[in-house]
Amino acid sequence: MTELTKTLELKLVDPNAHKRRKLRETREAYKHALQDAFDARCTTQTEANDVVVNYDLSGYAKNVLKKYVPQLTTTYNAGELHDDHPVRFTNEGLRFDHKPENAIEWYVKIPHHEDYHLWMPAQPNPEQRGWLEALNAGDATMGESRLFERDGTWYLHVTATRDVEERSEVSAEERTPIGVDIGEASLVTVCHRDDHGSPTAPELWADEGKTVRRHRKTYFTAKRRLQTRGSERIAESFGNDVWRQIDDVFHRVTRKVVEYAESVENPVLVLEDLTNIRESMDYDDFMNRRLHGWGFAKLHAQIRYKAVEKGIPVETVNPRNTSKECHACGEVGYRPRQATFKCTNDACWMGEYQADVNGAINIADRYLSGESHSREHTDGDDSAEDGGRLTASQDTQADATKQETLGTYAS
Ligand SMILES: [Zn+2]
Repeated sequence: MTELTKTLELKLVDPNAHKRRKLRETREAYKHALQDAFDARCTTQTEANDVVVNYDLSGYAKNVLKKYVPQLTTTYNAGELHDDHPVRFTNEGLRFDHKPENAIEWYVKIPHHEDYHLWMPAQPNPEQRGWLEALNAGDATMGESRLFERDGTWYLHVTATRDVEERSEVSAEERTPIGVDIGEASLVTVCHRDDHGSPTAPELWADEGKTVRRHRKTYFTAKRRLQTRGSERIAESFGNDVWRQIDDVFHRVTRKVVEYAESVENPVLVLEDLTNIRESMDYDDFMNRRLHGWGFAKLHAQIRYKAVEKGIPVETVNPRNTSKECHACGEVGYRPRQATFKCTNDACWMGEYQADVNGAINIADRYLSGESHSREHTDGDDSAEDGGRLTASQDTQADATKQETLGTYAS
């Protein structure tokens, strides 16, 4: 086991004038408190506390200053302060909220005054999505955070830590690729080939797919009804509840996927590369996946971070036609029914096959055919996979609604 630490980068998305003012207030109060405690040459927490206690700052920021100022004056023996210190908060100060149904999916709670905080939409570095999933699930620990402004944009940097297992030293050719297909009927399907090249041990999570579809349908129906009645807040809290249940299903399944990989010798989990998904799919197919498959990126991010924890490598491959080609002969076939793939090649021994398993084997095979995008995941990074964003106008609208709703969270 090794401990992995990372600084997660988030950009606060278009704070309105009110929130900008609050952020600046926090920054100014922090700056003055820091300067005062520093000028007073506070060398102990108690001395620093006596100074910073007078400022209109959150306790999470004051607690950082109480520790930080004595370090500056004693350990570092600093002569003067840098001009642009970020505002720091202790680990308890921050909280994340994930709303996958919104265009801006992540929200962060930033401490402001003693008992007042701001909920703000935030755009994470897409490479670090897995870390946010891990934090959200309690599988990573949050450390100190830093708030700062650069060229008019506000950023939040958060340190996070988790335990990971060392990855075994095995070459790519010696690994057994496990294809991971994310679908509609079966939420996730995994399969790999045995030593003789035969597809073996397919595992499908079809019931979970059904459960997620049911939750999602309930949510959208109820949301529409509540919104027409003007009950935005009830819709919001109802939504939170439903998404939490869906998230529970996701975590259960992604844990099983990684367990599956652990049962195979020298495994590598192979996922479809979502960065190319727009180019590689025709429009209808893409929209279909986007609308029904909003959980795509979330499932991928969870699989990635859980695999890294177990020292299992993850690779991505070109997703083009993985669901349309026959895994035996490579010919493009069709689906007479949702769960069935039919090969149209007369010379091929394969007639009909379980469609999701066929897709999973195709995905696994692309790793061996050299179509995989080799990316280093040893540091626990996640590849960019924003799947598909909604259009800009929808973004803005969703954001505006959100800010309004979240205004009520600020106590
Ligand atoms: Zn075939």
